[in-house]
Amino acid sequence: MEFRSVSGALEDYGPDDLSLPQFFLDFQHSSRPVRPPNVPWLIEDQTGRPIAFDELRIRTAGLANALSIKWNIVENDVVCVFSPNHVDPVCIWAIHRLGAIVTPANPGYTADELVHQLQTTKAALLLVYAPFLPTALAAAKLVGLREERIIVIEPFATSPYNSRHETLSGLISFGSSQSPNFVERKLHPGEAKTKVAFFSFSSGTTGKPKAVVIPHYSFTLNILQTVAHHGLNDPSLKKKHLNPGDVAAAVLPFFHIYGLVVVLHYMLFSGLSLVVIPKFNFTDFLESIAKYRITHLFLVPPQIVLLCKHPAVKNYDLSHVKLVISGAAPLSGSLTNSLRQVVPNAAIGQGYGMTETCTTISMMSGRQKMGVEGSAGQIIPGLVARVVRPDGTFCKEGEQGELLVTGPSMALGYLNNAQATKESFVDGWVRTGDEVVIKNSEIFVVDRIKEIIKVKGFQVAPAELEGHLLSHPAVADACVVGIPDEYSGEIPRAYIVLREDALMRISANPSEGEMLKAALKKHVADAKIAYKQLAGGVVFIKAIPKNPSGKILRRVLRDQARKAHAN
Ligand code: ATP
Ligand code: MG
Repeated sequence: MEFRSVSGALEDYGPDDLSLPQFFLDFQHSSRPVRPPNVPWLIEDQTGRPIAFDELRIRTAGLANALSIKWNIVENDVVCVFSPNHVDPVCIWAIHRLGAIVTPANPGYTADELVHQLQTTKAALLLVYAPFLPTALAAAKLVGLREERIIVIEPFATSPYNSRHETLSGLISFGSSQSPNFVERKLHPGEAKTKVAFFSFSSGTTGKPKAVVIPHYSFTLNILQTVAHHGLNDPSLKKKHLNPGDVAAAVLPFFHIYGLVVVLHYMLFSGLSLVVIPKFNFTDFLESIAKYRITHLFLVPPQIVLLCKHPAVKNYDLSHVKLVISGAAPLSGSLTNSLRQVVPNAAIGQGYGMTETCTTISMMSGRQKMGVEGSAGQIIPGLVARVVRPDGTFCKEGEQGELLVTGPSMALGYLNNAQATKESFVDGWVRTGDEVVIKNSEIFVVDRIKEIIKVKGFQVAPAELEGHLLSHPAVADACVVGIPDEYSGEIPRAYIVLREDALMRISANPSEGEMLKAALKKHVADAKIAYKQLAGGVVFIKAIPKNPSGKILRRVLRDQARKAHAN
């Protein structure tokens, strides 16, 4: 069977003749919540500096002018932005005003990883946050991008930034001082559906990141779909999850689709102020939440684990937090329940999506006071979902299978990767590669099909065991992978990061380590069926490998375990 939104219909499919900045900065869409006067768009976390709409719009025009005059950026040129969150999203909008394409890159990349992105997208210009200049220079050299084609985004405290490179603020002042020269790229009706806005890279959880082709229309429509899902304009909805004037934390990276669409654009569109946080440091983050009285937290599960388990949290009053949404990876029911104690006045739910669907597929709807435990939310208006068996036939409601999604806000495919496009974009449907169950309109993500462990033919979802292990008081973090086993095919092994107190106990008395491993195995054995038990053992490690979008890189530990097995 097929599943559609129960949170309402999408009455307005949005303008198909506007680019993202035209929709966002120039046009008052009827479903846009009204921002009260004096509510800044952005707040720089480090300094508290507020940035108003007018300033952003003027800076966008200045930069577009400069990129056109000095760098001759034209239609379909690709500009790579290699930066953590920064208060100048104008880079994105200025590039779009010229009809050019933005490819946001993860600043944690090594030179080789950046090379992959620059080569795949054939970027003509590179905007780099100053501390990452050495990586950018090394990558530029490897791909033959001339050094002059690197523009430096200055860190907030450095003014002026000393560099032989052109700087972003220098370019903006130059562009603002010249008479307008750039020609705004206008789109004819329907063109926004195919005019490319972003080459956004997937997180690279299962392999090399893939360049996803995202047109302007899919991007803006995904925002309107989420506005409708949350009923932001529904007068019958008395209490809303988001209200203009609320304050959201922009701690998730804008280079990833979740941060780019949901945090940066959806929050600003909804009239909230964004506290722009370039680097996640947990205790600093708690300080920022308190200082700016942040009401809305869009987070990933590892950050929620810290909120639930870090000893510093008890020193903060988080009663002003109104909404916490977790996304990008599974969040267990037990963790959700612990979070309720930490943010007692907040609605808590999940969002689920992927780069290929231009982010949100499902989220807790605005009509729900609290997300259903373990659910990734309800499908947003305008999308249709199917759950299929391996042979392609439809699952019944409540039956586990692969989720396929379609709708007008999907990405167009992968750039320069026909094979992957053929596999994931099939007859207008996006194959998510995720195993799910849909029940009472709620989507429960079991795990990625690729990562499900097969024990004697039975399926074991690592996420389920990880969620359960996190409920043990000695566990700070957990990762479960399948290791080869002659008899069972695969067996689950848990990699565990211990909490400080447990670590101290073990270092004082090493035999405690073996006892703790046995206790963790028992913790699973007491709650789970025989084939889900940790027959592959428990290994203590210092940290679980994760990518910056909050996903556990199980493949790293799995590969290590397989190598060890082979030797
Ligand atoms: P790659 O495709 O390069 O291997 P990736 O799939 O992690 O990396 P993204 O597009 O950033 O790249 O992430 C989408 C995936 O994240 C989804 O397919 C799903 O597996 C996972 N995901 C997102 N939100 C949730 C959620 N709420 N619960 C469970 N999984 C989620
Ligand atoms: Mg993926």
